[in-house]
Amino acid sequence: MSQTIQSVRGMNDILPGESELWELFEETIRSWLKSYGYRPIRLPIVEPTPLFKRAIGEVTDIVEKEMYSFEDSLNGEQLTLRPEGTAGCVRAVIQHNLAAQRPQRLYYMGQMFRHERPQKGRYRQFNQVGIESFGFAGPDIDAEQILMCARLWDDLGLDGIKLQLNSLGQLEERANYRAELIAYFEKHADLLDEDAKRRLYTNPLRILDSKNPAMQEMITGAPQLMAHLGAESLAHFEGVQQILRDVGIPYEINPRLVRGLDYYNLTVFEWVTDRLGAQGTVCAGGRYDGLVEQLGGKPTPACGFAMGVERLVTLIRESGAEPELEGVDVYLVHQGDAASRMAPRVAEGLRDQGINVLFNCGGGSFKSQMKKADASAAMFAVIIGDDEANAGEVTLKPLRAEEGPGQRNEQKRVSVDLVADEIMNAFFDGDDA
Ligand code: ATP
Ligand code: MG
Repeated sequence: MSQTIQSVRGMNDILPGESELWELFEETIRSWLKSYGYRPIRLPIVEPTPLFKRAIGEVTDIVEKEMYSFEDSLNGEQLTLRPEGTAGCVRAVIQHNLAAQRPQRLYYMGQMFRHERPQKGRYRQFNQVGIESFGFAGPDIDAEQILMCARLWDDLGLDGIKLQLNSLGQLEERANYRAELIAYFEKHADLLDEDAKRRLYTNPLRILDSKNPAMQEMITGAPQLMAHLGAESLAHFEGVQQILRDVGIPYEINPRLVRGLDYYNLTVFEWVTDRLGAQGTVCAGGRYDGLVEQLGGKPTPACGFAMGVERLVTLIRESGAEPELEGVDVYLVHQGDAASRMAPRVAEGLRDQGINVLFNCGGGSFKSQMKKADASAAMFAVIIGDDEANAGEVTLKPLRAEEGPGQRNEQKRVSVDLVADEIMNAFFDGDDA
């Protein structure tokens, strides 16, 4: 026997039982995004490698070590499986001149790929829902995106997800701070780990976001960026906070929140839970006013976030907020020649009326078909034997009998023309009760 082939490490199948929860999540996501006027954009999974190098930055975890890159064997082009969605979205906005006429609110969802060490909440293929807005410069859109998240946690029945906020100011403001930060780290060079040493002169801000326990105390004592922000940056930050206070969204300012990607400026934020262990960030984002121009477009203010779907779905399941899954309405049981010829017609007729039907395929005795009907979680069995078929009727049998006596629980013969009505009425009665 030949060896079976397994999925790639860190890239998971999502099987029935779990996948329904994903679909419910996605339905919630779509109506939530629609209610804020965000429109879907569908982007390729493969992009030219230079896009990510330019957008995300050469000295970042993603570009240094996490990208799945390869050469197109036909033309030698360098390609990469997208590790995040912002770069591709910005590319598309520039390529199609989307933000030229009016501001845009866009969203995407789908798989991202990063070569990381797989563990709970961290995979090599994972899913993000992301939104990006283009053409809005003020703090109102930053705040809107944060408020949206708060509403989503509510819609999903999740609590305990906390908002952390910071401002990265502008590039020029960071330049002064950078020099001061480097000097501070040089003074504590003996405490820096390998990653930090490598980043000291290329991307010292990233050291602030190190998770290495041995460096925490030293990092806590580091100078803070906030002290270097000018009046405009501070006013923008205050504008965001004002709206959050007005709407009553609690937040914490975290001066160490610098985000892993180079393209951010001004507002950055993360939503964090303590229920997922080390992988506690479920959503992260901020403003990136320079990126469109950096990638060759006209200067366009922009702001966005991405959330980790695996982490959120885990939270939904573990918090018991999991919604009930709906079964089909009808299981169709049929046996005998005449019955089996009539059955597909009956099933399609029910579906015409919007009733969901699980059709018994593969034959079997009445008894074994009824067992399958019970296991299907259907509300009714529609049973057709030759007897029924010859009379142009079916037997309608409620499968989820309620307590106590009542006609609803008894099976009855119904003409084929009336069976859909009978079923619909039963559903209505159930709702009224
Ligand atoms: P982390 O610090 O956890 O590595 P990040 O800063 O690299 O996160 P972002 O690039 O901001 O993550 O991505 C946004 C969100 O996508 C994260 O907050 C997280 O919820 C999710 N995410 C990122 N990487 C992974 C991964 N490898 N597996 C599952 N989810 C992920
Ligand atoms: Mg990461």
